[in-house]
Amino acid sequence: MTILAVPLSAESRWSGDLLCWEVRCRECGDWWPCDTDYWHRDRRRSNEPQRVCRACQCGRWAQTKRIERRAA
Ligand SMILES: [Zn+2]
Repeated sequence: MTILAVPLSAESRWSGDLLCWEVRCRECGDWWPCDTDYWHRDRRRSNEPQRVCRACQCGRWAQTKRIERRAA
């Protein structure tokens, strides 16, 4: 796991339990620790997470695949 920089444009909060910053996912609204276990890196700002968490990105990809499969 790699700790990422907390993006200024995202909602963030300090977690006293986990002793790390958490960032709110724009998609699901859940709070996730700001590291690479929970976020993909932003390609343009490699030390910051993307605005959508890993779980949402994976879910969206799976959904896209399902739609493609249905259409085929
Ligand atoms: Zn999410």
